[in-house]
Amino acid sequence: MDLKQSYDAIVIGAGAGGGAAAWRLAHHGKTVLLLDAGPRFNPTADYKLMQPDWERHNFPNKTGSRGQVSFGDLGRVSEQNKHLFSWNTVKGRLSAGNTRRPLGSGYEHVQGIGGSTLHFVGEAHRLNARSFSMASDFGVGADWPLTYDDLEPYYVIAEKVLGVAGSENQKECWRSSAFPLPAHLFSPAATRLVEAGAKLGMHWQANSRAALSIPYENRPQCNYCGNCSRGCPLGDKGSSDVTFIRQAEQSNCVTIKPLSSVIRMEADDTGHIKTIRFANNGKYEVIEAGLVVLAAGAVQTPRLLLHSQLANSSGQVGKNFMELIAWSAAGFAEDIANTHMGLPADAICWDFNAPDAIRDVIGGCRFTSSVQDLGLTGPIAYMQHLISGHSHEAKAQLHKYFGKAVAVSAIGESLPNSETFIDLHPSETDQNGIPIPRIHAKLGENEIKRLNFMASTCRRLIAKAGVKQLRLEQGTYDFFSSTHVFGTCRMGSDPLNSVVDQSGRSHDHPNMLITDASIFPSSGGGEAPSLTIQALAIRSVDQYYHNHE
Ligand SMILES: Cc1cc2nc3c(=O)[nH]c(=O)nc-3n(C[C@H](O)[C@H](O)[C@H](O)COP(=O)(O)OP(=O)(O)OC[C@H]3O[C@@H](n4cnc5c(N)ncnc54)[C@H](O)[C@@H]3O)c2cc1C
Ligand code: SF4
Repeated sequence: MDLKQSYDAIVIGAGAGGGAAAWRLAHHGKTVLLLDAGPRFNPTADYKLMQPDWERHNFPNKTGSRGQVSFGDLGRVSEQNKHLFSWNTVKGRLSAGNTRRPLGSGYEHVQGIGGSTLHFVGEAHRLNARSFSMASDFGVGADWPLTYDDLEPYYVIAEKVLGVAGSENQKECWRSSAFPLPAHLFSPAATRLVEAGAKLGMHWQANSRAALSIPYENRPQCNYCGNCSRGCPLGDKGSSDVTFIRQAEQSNCVTIKPLSSVIRMEADDTGHIKTIRFANNGKYEVIEAGLVVLAAGAVQTPRLLLHSQLANSSGQVGKNFMELIAWSAAGFAEDIANTHMGLPADAICWDFNAPDAIRDVIGGCRFTSSVQDLGLTGPIAYMQHLISGHSHEAKAQLHKYFGKAVAVSAIGESLPNSETFIDLHPSETDQNGIPIPRIHAKLGENEIKRLNFMASTCRRLIAKAGVKQLRLEQGTYDFFSSTHVFGTCRMGSDPLNSVVDQSGRSHDHPNMLITDASIFPSSGGGEAPSLTIQALAIRSVDQYYHNHE
C-alpha cells in the first residue's frame, strides 16, 4: 500500500459536480487528483452514431462503467390510476402486477470520466428562483441556505465553460449576462408543438442547451443527429469530459485516475478526513487527504459516507432522496415530415415550473418536445414502440409513418418523504466487498396529483399538434426510471438537520466538500440539474479558498 500526500485536493467522482470542482481547483492553481470508479470514453471510437448501424448501439457499456444498485420499496400502483399506466401500441401495458418497478436497470447513471453527463441529453437549466424556499413559502421539503442571487454569477461561469446555447430567460431566472451562444433553430416536431402550445395559451421557447449552435472552444457545432444520450461522437455536447475536465487537464494541475473506486474514507480525532482508500485494477491504495471533494452522485455519495460512517451526526445522510417524475406521449401527425431529425428537447414550456403554478398541487413541472429523447429517431424504434402488425403490413406502415412521430414530455418536481431514501444493502456487496446502495422511492400524494396534470396536459398538447391517435404513453407512476436524482446529503444552515452548509462543506469534517446532486434540498420544478450542480461546485471551491487564504 502507498501513502502519499502530493495533491492539494482529491476529488472523488468525475461527473458533473466533480469535473466542475476539479476545473475550479485548477483555476486556483491547486494540484488535484481526480479519482473515478469508471473508465475513460473515447467519443470517436466508443460512440457509434457515425456508423450505418448506429441504431443498434445504445450508450456503450465498458468495463467498470455501470455501478451496482439495488431497489427497496418503490411503492404500489392502483387500478384507480390506470390512466397513468405506461403502454405502447406494440406491447400494450408495459408494467405488470401492482408494484412499481425499475424500468430496465432503473438507474441509468454512468461511471466514467464525465460521469452521467456522458449519457445525458444536455439540457442546461437554472433552478427557478422560487424553488429555493419551499419550506418557508409552501411548507414542504426544505429551504436552500442560499438564494438564486447567490448562485447567479456561478451559473454564468458554468454556462461559458459548457457553451450553452439559448435566447429567452427561464421564467423567474434573471440573468446578468446573455447566453454564450445563439439558440438552436426548432426541429420540425418542435415547431409543431410550439404552434400547438400557442393554441392552448401556453408559451413555448427555445430550450437552453449544452450543445453547440456554432463552433466554440475548438469544438464543432452540432449536426442535429438527435441521439445525444447514445454519446456524442463530435464532442459538441457539453458533457464534463470535453468541457470542464478537458480544460482542467490542459492546466497540468489535474491528474486523472480512471477505474479507481474509493472504498473508504477515514477521519482523524479532529474530524478532518485523513485517508482515502481506493481500489485500482485489483490493487488497493491509500492516500492522505488535504481537501477532499466528494462528488460520486446522489446514490453513491451517501453509500460511501454510510459505509465509512462519516458526515452523519445529523442522521440525514441517505435521507430526503428525490427522483424525477415524468410523463411522455407520442403519436403520428399525418401532415408533418422529418420529425426524427433535430436536437432533443429543443423546445420547452416553463409555464408550470414555479412551485405554485399547478392548481391544487405544490411543486412544478415543465414540458419539452421529445421525439428524440424517446429515441424515435430510427426505424427500429418505430417498430419497437409505435407500429404493430407483421411483415408486409408493418413495413407499409413504417413507410407511411416514418418521420411523422410527434411527442411531448413533462418532467416534474418530486418532494422528499420518509419513504424516499438510500441505505446500504444488508447482504449484497460489490467486487470490493462494499455493500451496494439500495434505493427506496415511493411517490407521495403530491407527485401523483402532479403526474395527473402532466399526463392530461400532454394529451391535450399532442391532440392539438395533430395526433389523432396516441401510440405510446410512458411515465413514472408504474416505473422508477430516474435519470435525475437529488437529495441524500442535503445542504442547510442547521447541522442538526443537514449534512453540508451553504458552501457545500460538511458540518462534521472541515476539509470535506460535497459537490454533486446529493446536496440539493429540493429538486426544482423539473429543471435538468447539471448546470446547478456545476454552479454550486464552482461556488463551493471559491468559498473554501476564500475562507482559507
Ligand atoms: C439518460 C440521461 C439523460 C440526462 N439528461 C440530462 C440533461 O439533459 N441535463 C441535465 O442537466 N442532466 C441530465 N441528466 C442527469 C445528469 O447526468 C446528472 O444529474 C448529473 O450528471 C449528476 O451529476 P453528479 O456530479 O451528481 O453525478 P455523476 O455525473 O453521475 O458523477 C458521479 C461520478 O462519481 C463516480 N463514482 C461513484 N462512486 C465512486 C467511488 N466510490 N469512487 C470513485 N468514483 C465514484 C462515478 O463513476 C461517476 O463518474 C441525465 C441523465 C441521464 C442518465
Ligand atoms: S444532436 Fe448534436 S449534441 Fe446531440 S449527439 Fe448529435 S451532434 Fe452531438
